[in-house]
Formats: sequence, C-alpha cells, structure tokens
Amino acid sequence: MDIVFFGNGISEDPNPDKIRLGGKGSNLCRMAALGIPVPPGIVLPTTLCRDYMERGHLPPELMPSVHEKLKKVEEATGRHFANPHKPLLVSVRSGAPVSMPGMMDTILNLGLNADTLKGMVLETGDERFVLDSYRRFIQMFGDVVLGIPHHSFEEILNHHKKKSDAVQDTDLKPAALRDIIDDYRNLVQKGTGQPFPDDPFMQLRMAVEAVFRSWNNERAIYYRRLNHIPESYGTAVNVQSMVFGNMGNTSGTGVCFTRNPSTGERKFYGEFLINAQGEDVVAGIRTPQKIEELEREMPDVYRELLRIQALLESHYRDMQDIEFTVQQGKLYLLQTRNGKRTSAASLKIACDMVDEKLIDPRTALLRIEAEGLPALLAPIFDPTEVNAARSEKRVLAKGLNAGPGAASGYAVFQSAHAVEMAAKGKTPLLVRMETSPDDIKGMQHSSGILTARGGMTSHAAVVARGMNKPCVVGCSALIVHEEHGYADIVTEEGRHVRINEGDEVSIDGTSGEVFVGRMQTVDSDIQRAMRGEIDPASSWMARDFFQVMKWADEVRRLRVRANADTPQDANVARSFGAEGIGLCRTEHMFFGPERLPFMQQMILARTQEERELALKRLLPFQREDFERLFEAMAGYPVTIRLLDPPLHEFLPHTDEQIAELSQKIGVTEEHIRERASTLKESNPMLGHRGCRLGITYPEITRMQVRAILEAACKSRKKNIHVHPEIMVPLVGHRKELSLQKELLEVEAKRLLAEFDCHVDYKIGTMIEVPRAALTADQIAIDASFFSFGTNDLTQMTLGFSRDDSEPFLREYLRLGVYERNPFATVDESGVGEMIRIALQKGKSARHDLKTGVCGEQGGDPTSIRFFNRVGLDYVSCSPYRVPVARLAAAQAVLASE
Ligand code: ADP
Ligand code: MG
Ligand code: MG
Repeated sequence: MDIVFFGNGISEDPNPDKIRLGGKGSNLCRMAALGIPVPPGIVLPTTLCRDYMERGHLPPELMPSVHEKLKKVEEATGRHFANPHKPLLVSVRSGAPVSMPGMMDTILNLGLNADTLKGMVLETGDERFVLDSYRRFIQMFGDVVLGIPHHSFEEILNHHKKKSDAVQDTDLKPAALRDIIDDYRNLVQKGTGQPFPDDPFMQLRMAVEAVFRSWNNERAIYYRRLNHIPESYGTAVNVQSMVFGNMGNTSGTGVCFTRNPSTGERKFYGEFLINAQGEDVVAGIRTPQKIEELEREMPDVYRELLRIQALLESHYRDMQDIEFTVQQGKLYLLQTRNGKRTSAASLKIACDMVDEKLIDPRTALLRIEAEGLPALLAPIFDPTEVNAARSEKRVLAKGLNAGPGAASGYAVFQSAHAVEMAAKGKTPLLVRMETSPDDIKGMQHSSGILTARGGMTSHAAVVARGMNKPCVVGCSALIVHEEHGYADIVTEEGRHVRINEGDEVSIDGTSGEVFVGRMQTVDSDIQRAMRGEIDPASSWMARDFFQVMKWADEVRRLRVRANADTPQDANVARSFGAEGIGLCRTEHMFFGPERLPFMQQMILARTQEERELALKRLLPFQREDFERLFEAMAGYPVTIRLLDPPLHEFLPHTDEQIAELSQKIGVTEEHIRERASTLKESNPMLGHRGCRLGITYPEITRMQVRAILEAACKSRKKNIHVHPEIMVPLVGHRKELSLQKELLEVEAKRLLAEFDCHVDYKIGTMIEVPRAALTADQIAIDASFFSFGTNDLTQMTLGFSRDDSEPFLREYLRLGVYERNPFATVDESGVGEMIRIALQKGKSARHDLKTGVCGEQGGDPTSIRFFNRVGLDYVSCSPYRVPVARLAAAQAVLASE
C-alpha cells in the first residue's frame, strides 16, 4: 500500500504526482516539504479508488494500513485517534487529479463520539465549541456518507435556532446543541435503520469508502463530461488532522488568491471569516470580510500569510488559490492549487508573469485557454446606456464583480427552470440566494449568474469563472424567493422593485451592476483595436491580446484561414488575422432579394437557352462579390467552392411565395409546383448536389468560373494580387473531378485569352466523401489541393447526419460510444483515419499537394491538435474563431514538443 504521510516539514513522497495523489494531496505534500505549516495527514492514492471500483468494496488490507500510517500523524500531532485523552480528529477530503471545485464532499471532525467529546471538552474547556463540532460532523457524515438529505438536518437546526432565539450558529448554547445532536442521531436512526456509528475506526472506514464512491456521483460525472476529465483517474483520499477555525475570535478561516482571479490584477486577494469552520466562506452563508482587514485583526497571521502566498506563487509560477485556517492565532494552510480565473485574468496574468520573468512566452501561451478567447471578444454593455441607466437610477443594485462580461436574460430562480427555458430557445439568467453544486446544469444554461449572498470565492463565483460566464455575487439588496418565483430588490434610493420569473434583467460582471431590462451592447476594446479603431496600447486588454497573438504566430506551423462568403465576413476575418479564405460558399451569394429570382429562373428553365439567360443575369452579381472578396484578401489565397446544395433549396415552399414568384418571373404556379416536386428528394444529403450539379448542368460551372476569373482579371488590372482556388465539392470518383476540371480549364483559357490576363489560379477538390479519401491517389492527379470538408466527411463516415443525430447522440455521449460530439471535434479513429489515408495517398501521387480543412472542426482546439499532428497546411474556420485557431495552433506545436 503506497499511503503517503505529510506534515512537519516532511513529504514521504519526494515527487508528489497529481495523477497519483490527486491535486490536493500532491500540493499538501509539496507545501509540507516547503516548510509551510499544514496540519499533518496521509494521502490514499488514486490507484486505490480504481481498485475499489473494480472490486466494488475496499480491499481487506486497506484499513489496517491506514491505521498503521495514521500513527505517524499521531506522532506528529501528539494526539491519538479514538482515544478520549487528547483525541485526534481528522478531516476526510477527496482530491481528484484535476481540480473539481465542490464536486466531492469533505467530512470534518471525524473521530468524535461520546467519549472523545468528553476528552475534548476537558482539554479545551469550551463545551459549546466541541458540541458544535460534533453537530457539524453528524450532519456532514449523515449527508455525505449515509445519504440523508442535507435539508433534513437544516430543518432541525433552524427549528432549534428559532426556539432559542439564535441568529448565528455560534449563538446556540450547549443545551440547545445537545438537543440538536439528539435529534440528528434520531434522524439517522430513522433514515438508515441503524444507530449513528460511534466507533471512530468504523467512521473512518465508511468515510473513505464514501469518498471513493463519490467519484461516481451524478454531479461529478456531469462535471467530468463537461470538462473532458478522464473517468479512469479516480480520486485520492486525504485524511488530515483537524485544525479549528471556530475556537473563538482568535480563530478563523479564509480563501485567497495570489492575484485577482477576475481581472488578473497583481494584488493579493481574498476573504475570511472570524470564528468559522470549513466551508462557511465558500457556502456563501455569511458574507465574509476582505483579506486586507485581517491585517488589523491578526497582524502576525496576515504577515505570515503574505509571505507564504508569495512563496507559493514563485514555487508554482502560477496564480494560486489558497485555503487557510487560523486556530487560536496559529496559521495553517489547508490547500493550494492553480487558481481558476476568467479569460481576461488569464490573459493579464500570463502577460504579466512573462514581464516579471516568472515564465516564458511559450508557457504563457499554454496558460490561456483558446476556447476562452471568444468571451474576450464578446460585446460589453454600451457605455452610454450604462451612464444613462446610472443617471436615471435604473441601476437596481450593485454586487461583487465575480465574473466579467455583459449578460442579459430572462430571470429564473431555479436551475431546473433555466434548463427548461434554454431548451425552448430562450436565454435564462439565473438569480439565486446562493448556488450549490446542484446548480451546475442551470448555470451552464444561463447567460449569467446573480446571487444575493457570498463573496468572490463563493461557489457561484468560482464556478461561473470556470465557465467564463458573467457573474455578480453578494448582491445584498436582493432577496430571492426561489420557491415562489420572484425576487425583491430594495434599490439604493430605497425603491422596492419586484422581479418575476421571466422578466428581463442584465448584469455587468465587470462593474457588479444589476439592471432591469435588456441593455444594448457594443464591441469590446479588442475588437475595436483589431479593426484599427483604437490604439491597442490604449487598453491593457487589447495590448495583451495582441501580444499573445504575436507569440502564437511565431510558434504555430498551421496557417489559419477563414470561412467567409461575403466581403464583410472577409474583412472581419482579415482584422482577426486570417491568412486567406479557406471556404467561400458561392450559393450564399444567391440568396439576396435582387438575386434569388434569377437563381429561381435558372432552376425553373425548360431549356438550356433559358437557363443560360438566367445565369447571364447572375454573373455580374457573382463577379462583383468575388472582386470585393479578392480585394479584402489581397495577396492571400481565396478558396471558392462551386455550387453545392440541391437546387430545391432555392425554390419557394408556401402558396403565397409561389404566387409571388410566378408573378415576378412570369412562370405559371403549376410549373413551379411541378418543378419543385420533381426536384424533391427523399435523401437530399446524398442527392443531386455538389459536383453532380456541375456535371449535369455544365453551364452553371461555366458561369461560376467566368465570374471568378473575370473578377480576378479586374483585380489584377488594379494591381491586386489574387490567388483564386477553385474547389469542386463532393467528389467521390476521380472521373467526377476530371470532368469538371476539363470544363473549367477550357472556359478559363478562353476567358484569360479574351481578357489578355494572367491569373495564378488552382483547381482542387473537397474531400468529404469516403470514397474520395480512399482513392485519394487517383483524385490527386487532377487536384492541386485537398480541403477536408469535415462536416460531410463525418456524416458520411459515421453514417448519421448532424441534423438528425440529436436524440441518440446525447445517449451515445452519455454511454461513451463517442467520447466527444464528432461534429464538433474530429473523431480521430474513424474520420481521422480517413484523413490520414487521404493525405498519405494524395501526397504519394502529388508531393506538393496543398491540404487544409474547412468545416466547424477547423476552429476546434482539440481537432486543431490533430490537424497539426497529421501535417495539414492550414485550417479554416469562422471569422470570429480565427484568434482561437491561431492560439490553438501554437498550443498544438507546444504540446507536441
Ligand atoms: P474542496 O475539495 O471542496 O475544496 P476541501 O477538502 O478543501 O474541499 O474541504 C473544504 C474545507 O474544509 C476546507 O476549505 C477547509 O476549510 C476545511 N477543512 C478540510 N480539512 C480540514 C482540516 N484538516 N482542518 C480544518 N479544516 C479543514
Ligand atoms: Mg478546498
Ligand atoms: Mg459539403
């Protein structure tokens, strides 16, 4: 058994590893070894959790080894487990390899029973404190280990508080506490049919087992799935000697960060409560004091804490989230970990730490979550409207700015309602007195979170920051009647305002302000700087953002292009740093009101002449779009896909629309209906689309290549460098591509001669049909580039469509058939294998084959890692995801090193 002891300057494990000892255990060992005061304890490694899960029970030799190791803790503390004379009390704490805040439950004060209780009273002379500790122990043990609902205990507690006129828990007198304890024990007896376990060894065994078991509780599973934490890790168990923050006014407990987790500001930051134990700060029941006030209350402790937090930050070279307890003037550290932070804070901290020479730029790149960047680019509330709201006193209240960003939404007071509302396509904003781990799903579905209680380290604040959601906590003017579906606010001017479920509210997580109604938003500093509207140096956020993008560009190998169909999209893409267009879907150019009728005319044509006439009318529109696209992307490649969707998508459906069209273009309604019904397909995804259109209607392809090359020639005349890449969609057979290519080349030659112009154009294909991937060596003969259309390739490889998979895919993900949504993240072993085969075969036929990916996965960091590994030349994604892709491409290189 590899149980590890830590404490009094010692860690038995010289190299405490997180995967083996869990995050908490490994950091407790490290702190002990650094000479930082931690209460001595032992760590049961995660291997034992896996062992437990395989067997379904604890291995028989486990508890004897635990008792053996516990002797070291007894030695280190001078106390004895299960012994009335100076009894050793312990906490039993879970600790997974990846921090999962609030996911698994801790039991405090374990080891108390009638005998040890007496011993403790004799020792401390403080009966109230000991009884309160016992009461808490029964409650936590009853809830976590025995499965008796938390609220049953709370009801008993509240009943007795009311009876004895106690406001705070600490107001309860020993007699009342004894009554509570009796009621608690009766509750346990009734709920489980067994008396509350009095044998400390039995308590310990049951608690250890409960922690292992809690790895598989619903909340933990949900959190792991959300964050892609492997199921196989398991949790460690930490059994640690207790220290008490509830031993009067020279004791307390607190949580702090070495820098501000919300803004990233380099300033020690935190909160504490005097005379409180354990989770009181995080639970948000009492609103805590700011850490600066500790300097006044306990100057020595404060100085020591300052020293330790600096030591920890320089040791870990990262912002730390620290838990501490003070017992009668003596400081103990109970936990440290890399602190969760908002995207804004992660950006600032990473850049600051490079300036401070704590880390290098490469490390900084790995510290910023690529997926968090869109939140930084997200709009903020319009400052003029905010000012107006302020001067018109439309600010309802102000709380703590726990998670920055602007959120508007419909108020909901219960998590289940948030989930229901989101399912209906409306955006909820979750408003609660405080949140608990049961609210995770509701928070996930809300645009923002507002709570009445709690500080910057409360559950709501921590989780919201992890989710990158705007969040305001500790808004004490707010009273939420969760069961009754309304909330009341008394504004600063003393106005009473009621918010009903479904009313619109807005919160500004950067200022902490709460507004009634929906607020207008404007672009963030970064966006404005990217468009050149402000100088990046004028805003730290924009400056740091540009810095990080620059570092990323220096490191990455993959080029990043954008999917853009309009000149506007192309301009956005350029401002975000796109190096070309990877996919321009030409069909989107046909949907404008002045164009669609010609497109429809083309489809409804009875003869080739009629069709060509309609196409002639479309040509100038298309040519103009391309010209502007080339201009926006001057010097960069622009990949243009020939018409792809089935033609019936362009025809009207309702009687009204049909009548209107018939009028407009002088075709009978019957004919429209007839044509629509012939074009109707039972399986459009596999129907008459892609290159099949260009092959059956060559005049469409001819018109498109004309538009592209005429535009290119015009741009050339204006001295703009153009690199059009003409892409044939949905090729599965070599012959399909060669037919289209022949057509394209004949037309191109004629046109370039006509214009007397040289254009450097390429012809290539999308690889999105499995047959194309498997015969890529033949296809590459005619293709100078491949672009993997991962949306279709995924549908066709997996055999289910993205739009119809929702009902079973959710179940598949739950069962782990697929670990991730294969439409969001490339399915490496299936679709990824198609890509590998196509690359290998394609390059064997044409060594200079250019390869890229277009489709949603081109902007997904996990997929980008794969695309980097297999050696694609570029990824293409939506314009707003270009910065994500730039950073993720750099991270992919760093991860592979
Ligand atoms: P979480 O994983 O939710 O952070 P912890 O294991 O850190 O749970 O326990 C929650 C809280 O319980 C801690 O923040 C600390 O205040 C308290 N606690 C845990 N162990 C001890 C201990 N040995 N002595 C005193 N308080 C403890
Ligand atoms: Mg903790
Ligand atoms: Mg496609």
